[in-house]
Amino acid sequence: MAGISAERETPTKIDTTKASIARVYDAALNGKDNYEVDREVLRQVRQVAPEVNQLAWDNRNFLIRATRFLASQGDISQFLDCGSGLPTAENTHQVVQRVNPEARVVYVDNDPMVVTHGRALLEENENTRFISADIFEPREILENHTVREHLDFSQPLALFQVGTLHHYDGQRPPGDIMREYVEGLPSGSYVAIAHFFDPEKPPYSELARKMEEKFTHSPMGTGVFRNGAEIESLFPGLELVEPGITLCSQWWPDGPQVKPLDQVQHCIVGAVARKP
Ligand code: SAM
Repeated sequence: MAGISAERETPTKIDTTKASIARVYDAALNGKDNYEVDREVLRQVRQVAPEVNQLAWDNRNFLIRATRFLASQGDISQFLDCGSGLPTAENTHQVVQRVNPEARVVYVDNDPMVVTHGRALLEENENTRFISADIFEPREILENHTVREHLDFSQPLALFQVGTLHHYDGQRPPGDIMREYVEGLPSGSYVAIAHFFDPEKPPYSELARKMEEKFTHSPMGTGVFRNGAEIESLFPGLELVEPGITLCSQWWPDGPQVKPLDQVQHCIVGAVARKP
């Protein structure tokens, strides 16, 4: 286990009457750390998108492939994983430490259940840390003492906002939040983002709008489907790695895609980009 950090003292209280993003996502990935109220969100979305679980799987599989790419091809050995989610199979540190056992990871999340389980399961070795903080406050994250202590900001690192920004419902444009993050990263760093997508063409646009309606009016309350231009604005001043912003399922898939995509798979995109 990793050393004690100040954030360990944060009290945690799990409210089982309110749906949580992390637990709904866990339920979609067939995990065990969720409650009836979380599964109800998925049941509601399933009324308009029967394959909704695939949205979560495409997001998670993109995260795993992008992580492996950055650790092996990008020679990145430091990772700041914003919105880690509940521990599952193939967590970021397991993927990168298979490539490089010395690779360092800091996980960030503010869900009480993730904080509890994350500290127990994600801080598996000396090279991983978990902090509880708000990922939509870049300064708070970039100046966090555990982040500064564990990651070397004189060397490139990878910043993840995978499956997170579509849950942001604050006033600030999300592109501004990402700009502040990017400004704080060393040159040669990478950013990976996966985001709910409205392709603005039938029939998928209608599906995206229906899913958004269900998510935002569900007990979870968030889940915005942004269009291509809006998602492009999340990569300010960055060079997109081929193939650019693309459907998560089509971002360097592990093998040939022989089955037709489910409709929901047209409604989530991902990209990796580099800071020059
Ligand atoms: N990144 C993981 C993945 O792609 O598999 C998990 C994605 S999950 C859909 C989104 C995560 O972001 C949840 O664990 C949630 O608790 C976390 N999250 C949402 N808003 C947050 C915030 N303001 N600060 C910290 N974490 C947040």
